[in-house]
Amino acid sequence: MDRTKVYFVTGSQDLYGEETLRQVAANARAIVASLNQSGQLAAEIVWMPTVRNPQEIISAVRAANNDDDCIGIIAWMHTFSPAKMWINGLKLLQKPLLHFATQANRLLPWASIDMDFMNLNQAAHGDREFGYICTRLKIPRKVVAGYYEDPEALNEIRSWIQAAKGWREAQNLRVARIGDNMREVAVTEGNKVSAQIDLGFSVNTWGVGDVVKFINEVGDRETDALVQEYFDLYAVPDRGEEAMASIRDAARQELGLRAFLASTGAKALTTTFEDLHGLHQLPGLACQRLMADGFGFGAEGDWKGAAMLRIMKVMADNRRTSFMEDYTYHLESGRERVLGSHMLEVCPSIAAGKPSLEVHPLGIGGKAPPARLVFQSPPGPAVNVSLIDLGDRFRLLANQVETVEPDADLPELPVARTIWIPKPDFKNGVRRWIEAGGAHHAIYSQALTMENIADFARIAKIELVQIS
Ligand code: MN
Repeated sequence: MDRTKVYFVTGSQDLYGEETLRQVAANARAIVASLNQSGQLAAEIVWMPTVRNPQEIISAVRAANNDDDCIGIIAWMHTFSPAKMWINGLKLLQKPLLHFATQANRLLPWASIDMDFMNLNQAAHGDREFGYICTRLKIPRKVVAGYYEDPEALNEIRSWIQAAKGWREAQNLRVARIGDNMREVAVTEGNKVSAQIDLGFSVNTWGVGDVVKFINEVGDRETDALVQEYFDLYAVPDRGEEAMASIRDAARQELGLRAFLASTGAKALTTTFEDLHGLHQLPGLACQRLMADGFGFGAEGDWKGAAMLRIMKVMADNRRTSFMEDYTYHLESGRERVLGSHMLEVCPSIAAGKPSLEVHPLGIGGKAPPARLVFQSPPGPAVNVSLIDLGDRFRLLANQVETVEPDADLPELPVARTIWIPKPDFKNGVRRWIEAGGAHHAIYSQALTMENIADFARIAKIELVQIS
């Protein structure tokens, strides 16, 4: 059961008297009820008693900090809440903050407006007082302005809640690195201590032999059952002896990897084709299936990619998000495109139809031909995201892309793929990504938007390069 909560904290002060404060609380409850009833938000919004003084503000912040189910605070200034009262509380805040610049009344009551109305509905200047102190304290927060029932305001809050869920996941995430980096590759390296300090997730290594031990313990009955599941879920065009031996081996790898990951508590993993001792094939199908279940994955030791994929899958509720690589260009003048793919490991959550389970030689790594799911992703908007280590800081890059249909069938291509045109256009999208140092690996999402990524970067306080 998802118990994710966001605290809705209303700022005021004692100056207004009991009657006004009763109305403030009632209005806040009405807004909270409306947000929850919208069905748009991936967390329960929890009404908190109005805060009227420094001690109540500190208490509300401490409650949010200490509640593991609480992913952030929405602050609303129904009335004027003098912001020096907020300083000591905000200095303690460890959860993401959204400032909702909204009002209980949508319309000015032109004919009846009087000073009572003016005293009750003071968000307009209460917002500015609160905003000033957040800016002065350098507190990153999302400011959403608009009536609380407006779809645009709801979308902005929804995006932030997704990012806040991703941030909570980052604080708890363990990445298991099976083997080290692909030899001589630069961008997949980086400082794991800095990553844990800045982003929360931990990255630790296991020898491939630790996984092989689990794979060797997999029994025939569970392997048979999993192969049957493959038959139910995927087209399997070649069921010959050789192909089936490879598919059965891949099923054992999947079961072994799942048991290994459960034993470590890791929700993300990396593999590398240069360290496969004791494995018969590079685990392609297994990693695709793990991604489909929400695990993060990075190939060739890419732990930053693995962590970001897990975080983004949590943000996207595991919809349509995959490990990806800019693989090859189509440079037809005026119709330039990128073909995105990987050697094997693309998540079937981005598949347009039923994936095809196939066995083909890899031509790299010197192992048996591996099983993999082959499919095409559907057209539509997507975002590519890359986390890189610049030595003194991390940088997040995000590029909006438009996924398009291929010009023709690709009958000889034995891997899953997607074809996109970067925004704002091929030349500038490619150029800016390269100039900003973006990796050849990316996280590709057809479920998340640039706003989600910007919200995450703001919460994480890391640099963001947006190419849109
Ligand atoms: Mn790669």
